[in-house]
Order: sequence, then C-alpha cells, then structure tokens
Amino acid sequence: MKIKVKTPIVEMDGDEMTRIMWAMIKEKLIHPFLDIDLKYFDLGIRNRDETEDRITVDAAHAIQEFGVGVKCATITPNAARVKEYNLKKQWKSPNGTIRSILDGTVFRKPIILRNIPPGVRSWRKPIHIGRHAYGDIYKNVEYVVPGPGKAELVFTSPNGGEPVRLTVHEFKGPGVLMGMHNTDASIRSFARSCINYGITEKVNIWFATKDTISKKYQGHFRDVFAEEIEKHRAELEAAGVSYRYMLIDDAVAQVLKSEGGMLWACTNYDGDVMSDMVAAGFGSLGLMTSVLVSPDGKYEYEAAHGTVMRHYYQHMEGKPTSTNSVASIFAWTGAVARRGELDNTPDVVRFAHTLEDVVLKTIEGGVMTKDLMLIAEPRVTKYALTEEFLDTVTECLRSSI
Ligand code: NAP
Ligand code: MG
Repeated sequence: MKIKVKTPIVEMDGDEMTRIMWAMIKEKLIHPFLDIDLKYFDLGIRNRDETEDRITVDAAHAIQEFGVGVKCATITPNAARVKEYNLKKQWKSPNGTIRSILDGTVFRKPIILRNIPPGVRSWRKPIHIGRHAYGDIYKNVEYVVPGPGKAELVFTSPNGGEPVRLTVHEFKGPGVLMGMHNTDASIRSFARSCINYGITEKVNIWFATKDTISKKYQGHFRDVFAEEIEKHRAELEAAGVSYRYMLIDDAVAQVLKSEGGMLWACTNYDGDVMSDMVAAGFGSLGLMTSVLVSPDGKYEYEAAHGTVMRHYYQHMEGKPTSTNSVASIFAWTGAVARRGELDNTPDVVRFAHTLEDVVLKTIEGGVMTKDLMLIAEPRVTKYALTEEFLDTVTECLRSSI
C-alpha cells in the first residue's frame, strides 16, 4: 500500500547528470512508495529555451500556490552553454529567477555521517547557513580614483529639502572608492525567513555583523533583525529556539569551537565566504542540501551542487559513473517531510525520515560513491556506481518499511 500525500508537490526537473539521477530517484524511491501528485515543470535547458524561460516563472508561481517544491540542479547558461545547446539567449539563472519571485533566502545544511569525519573535530551536528542574498558589495557602485579630489556621499529626498552630504575622503592622490546599500524591506524579509527556518528546523539562530566598526550600516542590520526577532518572540519560544547576536569575529571563533547545530544567519558577503568554508569543512558537495525559504513560509528544496557536467559527459560516452545522489535524495525527503508536516500527515513525514535513515545506514555500512570513498574513515576500498548505490538504498528501504 502506497502512502497518500494529501497536497501536491511542485517538481522541477533539471539538467545533465542530476537529471539522470533525478529520474532514477523518482522511479526507485518515490513512486513505488508514495501516492503523490507532482506538479511537473521541466526546467531543463532545452525547455527553458523553448518556452523563453516562461516555465521557470510558472514553476515559481506554482510553489507560491502549493507551498512546497523540489528542484533538480539546472544549467545556468554562460557563453559556452549558449553555443553547446544553440540557445536563443543566455537565460538567467533559474535559481535567481525563483528566488526573486519568492523573495526567499537560501539555507544550506550538510548531511553528517559517522564515517565521513568533518575537518573540524568538534563539529558533530550540521551548521546551517542562511545568506542574505541582496545588496551590499553585490549591488555596489565602484570607482577607481585617478588623482586628487573630494569624494562625497549625497542623498536627495523626493520631498525636497537640502540634500544630505557626507565627505567620504579628500583624496590627495589616486585610490579607490565604493558606494553600497541595502533596504529595510530586504533585511526584514531575510530575518523573517531565518525565523521560519529556525522554527521548522528547531535550531537556534546566530546573527553577527561588524557593528563595532560600522555603527550605522552594520548596526542597522543588527537593529532590524532584532526587531523581527522581538515580533516573533512567542513563536520562537514555543519552538524552543533562541536568538544570539554576536560580533562577526566572535561568531567565526565560536562556530569553529562549537559542536554545530545552529543556524548561522550571515550578511551577504559573510554568507558567500562562510558557506564555502563550512561546506569544505563537512566534506563533500554531494552531501550539501539547500532550501529556499520565503518570508511567508514557502519552501523549495534542492541539492547545493550543480549538474555534475563532467560525469554527464562520461555517461554520454557510455561509461559508468559514480555520482553521489545523496543531496538530491535529501531534496526529495526535505520536500516530502515538509509537505507531510503542513498537511498534518505523520506517515508521510515518517516515510521521509525512514528514507534519510536508510541512506545514512547504507553509507555507514560501507556502500558509497567515489567522492565519499576518498574521504571515508575507516577506509573503504570499493565504490558503488551511481545506480548501484541507489539500488542498495532501494533494497534497504523496502525492508525498512
Ligand atoms: P558541479 O555540478 O557542482 O560539479 C563540480 C564538481 O564537483 C564535479 O565535477 C565533481 O567533481 C564534484 N561534484 C559535485 N556534485 C557531485 C556529486 N553529486 N557527486 C559526485 N561529485 C560531485 O559544478 P560545475 O560542474 O561547475 O557546474 C555544472 C553546471 O551546474 C553548470 O552549468 C552550472 O551552471 C550548474 N550549477 C547549478 C546549480 C543549481 O542548479 N543549483 C548550482 C551550481 C552549478 P569531480 O569532477 O572531481 O568528480
Ligand atoms: Mg561563495
């Protein structure tokens, strides 16, 4: 008897090796066990090109309607891809398009395994990272100053009055200059997405800036974030989630000494840099999951890695690959569990958690793809091919249900 999933999940197909694995995951691990209505959107590069990228926008609207989506990795075309696929245009990143429609924040979470030791000895639980993905240096205005002159910051209000002028620097010779901004609306959305995530994942929230030096700019982030926390104090307390504000230097040191298990909410640049540090610290890209959370509580799950192009070319030459499907499987279990929680169907949530446990047991039992074999302790000498790994998981899932 299949388990009935009450409300549809929005499914977004993708490209290359992840598309191949996606079909296997659905065929072996989802459809045989779940009676589920998937709203299917093909975000593969050919279909995006055919639909003038309308399909991506439609998928984002479907996530808004149904609340939960699961996405396969997709190609973000560059000049080489435009040529390779003979595209009409260098279409924008689908993730960027979906993120801007949902106004969401991306959270990354590593999968922890007993036989894949993290680079940092004290880390025992996942460190979740939320990155504010708007503004600051990513929307800056820069200038290479050629010689002496006065640099000013000028703000003009549409309501009239004298413009506000601040001297940035009186240049005596050449130098560099930068202007950047953020908005209260964006910082607030970010804070709200972090609060939603902290509550659903039941993890404490850490936020840090350099407000000792940047008293107004970074201090404003601290204040707006704190206001949103205050507004949601009761919900946070009910979920047992605490909030901790720190200086960024302190946060970096505390994270390295901690056992993990917190959501580290990061400003844009900190998140860009720290998410790569944390990912490397936990081992493999194939073990990093990602979820987009909107301020009004819509969720889109995916693997953090890309389409694993090199493996795809190997696959197309008819050669076997050993590609890690774990992060893609966890995108599915994340979406299914979330769906079950929203629908109040505990057997659906239980299925998702069973599948996750089975994947962990499989790897801890010594069956894993090559990327993990290279870092496993104790050492293993044999790796599983892409489909072999999925077949072992399927067998184990059958006997666990
Ligand atoms: P990638 O797909 O993340 O792969 C980079 C390398 O990391 C692979 O060649 C492989 O190393 C290793 N790797 C990543 N995931 C793995 C897995 N599941 N199992 C085993 N090894 C894995 O990045 P890319 O090759 O630079 O990008 C390919 C395409 O993905 C690009 O077109 C890019 O636009 C797209 N992309 C999409 C997303 C997304 O949709 N979220 C994110 C990032 C990139 P080895 O070759 O050493 O085995
Ligand atoms: Mg980065």
